[in-house]
Amino acid sequence: MKTRRALVTGGAGFLGSHLCDGLLGEGYRVVAADNLLTGSLGNIEHLRNDSRFEFVQKDVCYPGEWGTLDLDYVLHFASPASPVDYAEHGIETLRVGSYGTFEALETARRSGAKFMMASTSECYGDPAVHPQTETYWGNVNPIGPRSVYDEAKRFSEAVTMAYHRYHQVDTRIVRIFNTYGPRMQINDGRVIPNFMWQALRGENLTVYGDGSQTRSFCYVSDEVDGILRLAGSSGLESGHEPVNIGNPTEFTILDCARKVIATTGSRSQIKFEGLPQDDPKQRRPDISKAKRLLGWEPKVELESGLKLSLEYFRRAVAEKGKEKRA
Ligand code: NAD
Ligand code: UDP
Repeated sequence: MKTRRALVTGGAGFLGSHLCDGLLGEGYRVVAADNLLTGSLGNIEHLRNDSRFEFVQKDVCYPGEWGTLDLDYVLHFASPASPVDYAEHGIETLRVGSYGTFEALETARRSGAKFMMASTSECYGDPAVHPQTETYWGNVNPIGPRSVYDEAKRFSEAVTMAYHRYHQVDTRIVRIFNTYGPRMQINDGRVIPNFMWQALRGENLTVYGDGSQTRSFCYVSDEVDGILRLAGSSGLESGHEPVNIGNPTEFTILDCARKVIATTGSRSQIKFEGLPQDDPKQRRPDISKAKRLLGWEPKVELESGLKLSLEYFRRAVAEKGKEKRA
């Protein structure tokens, strides 16, 4: 039987690189395309000598040579994802969520490949419905500082649905909720790497606002399992419409800070800083749809996931420390 081939945009990123591992594990040949804006070659270093894996350094907003490749799947994961990263790269975020999504969908259409788009819980904005079901349309500020990301993702969802409706591309949209684990950039500003960095260096943990805002954290192996199940699914009821994949156990950010301090055994204290504009007050996925359609639910709770990530974060902190001294 012919080996199936997948293109992963953003393949050198945190999630993209784990997805490459997962796809290789399922027997795919994998091409990862990434311009290294927020990703790193270190994330795919372990795949360098795997003949089934290829890395192409490239901005996916521009057409690729993919036309010559025989592709069975296009998974569009390229985009800055951390609020700090997309604030710094606002225009790039809008570009990759518009031109990049069109290019990725065109590639899928031309190759007759299936297509998956990495969407986000940010599509729900600061949600008025809790927990968030896929049928909720969200509460997004279209011109605020987070809009470069939120609206790019909402636009990407619209283009994806249009390619499904007008061009019959076999599409999937995964709405990913706060995922963490090894290979996150230690300085990307997201809450778990930030708290790990601070706790492992004995600095005070910066809780924004009063820390009562909530998030629900999914360990990366659970997230990738859900994504691959959705990617591989067929003949699903509403399978082309978005599916939430995340862990529904909800924590306040203050609780999250305390868990990181406990996991690292740090003496750090907590300090409070200003809450960024439009920071969602609550977030928790309703995963009934994923359970029903995919038989999926997460297995790793926050305490275990933090322990599983600790070694990685220790190394990342040590390496960054060396870079800073050099
Ligand atoms: P990440 O920053 O680690 O990975 C994104 C990757 O995309 C990086 O390697 C970056 O260099 C690459 N990229 C950005 N613009 C590009 C371009 N124009 N051309 C080629 N490559 C480009 O972030 P992540 O957490 O791995 O997120 C991956 C995807 O999952 C993103 O689309 C993000 O929106 C989505 N997502 C992630 C989370 C999460 O909690 N991790 C939550 C919701 C959605
Ligand atoms: N946060 C915090 N301290 C930090 C980093 C983040 O209190 O050092 C908060 C942030 O304000 C938000 C939550 O943690 O309420 C999650 O932030 P993150 O940037 O990880 O992702 P978001 O879910 O907001 O996209």
